[in-house]
Amino acid sequence: MNQNKLFAQTRLRLALSYALILALILTICGFGIYRAFYHAYWVTLDRELESVAGTLHDSIELKLQQPGQLEPIIQQILPNICVVNTSCIQEQSNPKRHILSAINQGNYYLRFFDNSGRLIAIAGTDPEGLPLVFNKQLWQTLKDHKGNLYHQISLVLHTKDNRDWGYIQIGRSLTDFKSYLVVIKLTSILGLPIVLLLVSVASWWLAGLAMQPIYRSYKQIQEFTADAAHELRTPLAATQATVESALLMPQLEDIEIRETLRTLQRQNQRLTTLVTDLLLLTRLDHQHSRTQRHICCLNEIINDLIEEFAALAIASQIQLISDFRISTPINICAYEEQLYRLLSNLIINAIQYTPQGGKIVVSLNRSYHYAVIQIQDTGIGISDQEQMRIFDRFYRVNSGTGGSGLGLAIAQAIVQAHHGSLTVQSQLQKGSIFTIKLPCVKA
Ligand code: ADP
Repeated sequence: MNQNKLFAQTRLRLALSYALILALILTICGFGIYRAFYHAYWVTLDRELESVAGTLHDSIELKLQQPGQLEPIIQQILPNICVVNTSCIQEQSNPKRHILSAINQGNYYLRFFDNSGRLIAIAGTDPEGLPLVFNKQLWQTLKDHKGNLYHQISLVLHTKDNRDWGYIQIGRSLTDFKSYLVVIKLTSILGLPIVLLLVSVASWWLAGLAMQPIYRSYKQIQEFTADAAHELRTPLAATQATVESALLMPQLEDIEIRETLRTLQRQNQRLTTLVTDLLLLTRLDHQHSRTQRHICCLNEIINDLIEEFAALAIASQIQLISDFRISTPINICAYEEQLYRLLSNLIINAIQYTPQGGKIVVSLNRSYHYAVIQIQDTGIGISDQEQMRIFDRFYRVNSGTGGSGLGLAIAQAIVQAHHGSLTVQSQLQKGSIFTIKLPCVKA
């Protein structure tokens, strides 16, 4: 399958998973919020009903004298009161009515029952079609024949001399509560597509963000594979050409055979170096354990390398010296073999890119908890733009130099595997300074 298609599909799958999870979380939260609103409104309703009922109960109880009998004063203070078996009393202006004004405002109704549960009177906005059967349960939710809901409280009434008078029921319609819930539900339903759209966009964006490093790393691997194949092809093609031209010769002299074999050996050597470097780079990418590291003395390693490259420097007519800035040896915990490789790559480069009569100084110093090694040359230097790229794998400033372009990439990978840093300062035609910083062991 086309890789870009695979990435697009993975992103889509990831976005769908994100969207699904986010939508699920939002739905659960939305349901929770709905329940919280529902509960809060219900509690407020109950409290309001309780407080109105308490006020009415207390003010009516003060006026009651005979069980099951409504005193005329009560009939005067209650609005729209309708006593059973009498013509309904019309509302009258009375200064005491203000206590009960809540009845009119809040869709409240009142019902009086005697001790045997017989209805005595009804007041307030009595709902049509609500069953008149008495039930002395404290809280009740009732339904009229149209399906409208009512919530009511039943309280016991006593006369002034503390005899049981009967019961009072105070209730109210739940229509406003129902419309409040409808508004919440409608808002949620209408808001759902917008929320889903936002969630989808956010998920697509998040999935893209999550895929970015994977895509970048995939591109790097792709480039690396292509570059590696290209680099391997050159010596392989040369080997093939050498063998083919040797085979085309009708007869080969001993000296020609030797020359052909030497060419093949050189090309083979180049291939071996390249494959070894590639394997080293791959190993460095996965090297995390500290167990195989040893305490290495940097002074000793630098002295060894100066000695090793002395002949090459003399042959190139370059002065190669070391400069230890502090008298005490500096130790670091590292893979010794890799330290040799790191420093030789930089010293070989310095020799290679410094003209005759030049000078290379390998200095060693300590700065806080770091060992600082500098390889300074008076060579051809590197331009600012090239300095950004020379650590890339297979990058060469001038492809005619014969190198593979892996030397600095390997150096950088070794430094990173040791939790250090490798930087370059350079000026064209003046020279370069490569600075390595590695965490060192306490003196
Ligand atoms: P190569 O195998 O080509 O030397 P490197 O990764 O070691 O590959 O170096 C990358 C490029 O950096 C080289 O092609 C060279 O142009 C440049 N370079 C490295 N070291 C120096 C230096 N000391 N002076 C000038 N140029 C350098």
